[in-house]
Amino acid sequence: MTDLISMTIAEARNGLANKSFTSLELTDAHLAAIEAARALNAFVLETPDKARAMARAIDAKIAKGEGGPLAGIPLGIKDLFATKDVRTTACSKILGNFVPPYESTVTSQLWRDGAVMLGKLNNDEFAMGSSNETSCFGPVVNPWRREGSNTSLVPGGSSGGSASAVAALLCMGATATDTGGSIRQPAAFTATVGVKPTYGRCSRWGIVAFASSLDQAGPIARTVRDSAILMRSMAGHDPKDTTSVDRAVPDYEAAIGKSVKGMKIGIPKEYRLDGMPAEVEKLWTEGAAWLKAAGAELVEISLPHTKYALPAYYIVAPAEASSNLARYDGVRYGLRVPGGSIGEMYENTRAEGFGDEVRRRVMIGTYVLSAGYYDAYYLRAQKVRTLIKRDFEDCFAKGVNAILTPATPSAAFGVGEKGGADPVEMYLNDIFTVTVNMAGLPGIAVPAGKDAQGLPLGLQLIGRPFDEETLFSLGEVVEQAAGRFTPERWW
Ligand code: GLN
Repeated sequence: MTDLISMTIAEARNGLANKSFTSLELTDAHLAAIEAARALNAFVLETPDKARAMARAIDAKIAKGEGGPLAGIPLGIKDLFATKDVRTTACSKILGNFVPPYESTVTSQLWRDGAVMLGKLNNDEFAMGSSNETSCFGPVVNPWRREGSNTSLVPGGSSGGSASAVAALLCMGATATDTGGSIRQPAAFTATVGVKPTYGRCSRWGIVAFASSLDQAGPIARTVRDSAILMRSMAGHDPKDTTSVDRAVPDYEAAIGKSVKGMKIGIPKEYRLDGMPAEVEKLWTEGAAWLKAAGAELVEISLPHTKYALPAYYIVAPAEASSNLARYDGVRYGLRVPGGSIGEMYENTRAEGFGDEVRRRVMIGTYVLSAGYYDAYYLRAQKVRTLIKRDFEDCFAKGVNAILTPATPSAAFGVGEKGGADPVEMYLNDIFTVTVNMAGLPGIAVPAGKDAQGLPLGLQLIGRPFDEETLFSLGEVVEQAAGRFTPERWW
């Protein structure tokens, strides 16, 4: 019997088309895998009945030759995406048992193309975090462990459930969102592929908003090709999101295997950090050599405002979050904690409904937007953002096609190991990823090697606006050279 869970989406697509198995069989195999992997805490809601109903319906369509590009493929959905009639919480107590009466545009496009929903995936509360430890459902566990150790490691965040589930073969692919690295960092921590598309490429409609000028949906999958397949269904113009761009969606998969000969790849000198682990540095050099061997030309570039990206991000993102989260007032959604007056009810609800990290962001955000501090913090951060964007534009204007960097400054760390005393320790995880959101650019994280303890490490490629195709071509070169990495099953 074919192993139904370790296949790629591309392989499953062929198997379904050849009638080697049905979507119902594929779905059942994944539902069983999910049940056996509850120790990972990747899913916060399993929807087996819905999954089987969707699979049966798509099997009937496949039989009539009507299946779409994702016909019968079982996916996991980050709990930040509104799913009609299926509880959606953003992993926050404040949303309680909120059941949206609508479907996000991105997920509705996946169902339009024939995908099957297995359930909702864990994430950091309101996508704020880099370790999936701020979720009200508790931390997600990384299927990867250090060699010879059984310490639980984080899968990264905020899309930790998505990354963990894809790496542990619980779903063939997953939706995720990236505001400051939340697709790419968990992908790097779990040896999966994560794509953060250009701002405006995917609709944000129906996705719980964190920082609207930075948020972007994208896929996490096990191969570059699979992420390209998912991207095609997720991308597209949506009149319901005024920031979504009206541009044809290319056949991303066609970019796989395209020659990268003559492409100019920038290596930004500012990403070489003091104290960066030697393995990360080595991997980066190795990645550059792989691209060179494939015919690309490597050039050193400078992105001089890089050092301001993290502080500026941690002003802009909380500022927007404080505004977006104002809607959770105990009246419209989920949790309500009564009080003597309406003001007290708001206060009680928000104090009890939001976790520590979310409250911290709301306070920072409110502060940097307040009269007297607005110019000193928020306005200044916005100016820095423009300078960061300009750094990238200058490089692209000089003919650079894409930029190669490490995806994260380290491999996965232990649950409870970071950020306890100082939240900045956690924020430093995002050092290589936030610049991309600040500039609105596309980025991909591809598994590229392992550290001395056997944990996966990823490389990041950053592209020109709306040139995700180049990232898929280059990403596949890295994947071919590095090989693929699967965690040993212990759960
Ligand atoms: N870790 C970053 C933060 O906490 C990014 C999160 C994200 O991309 N959603 O803000």
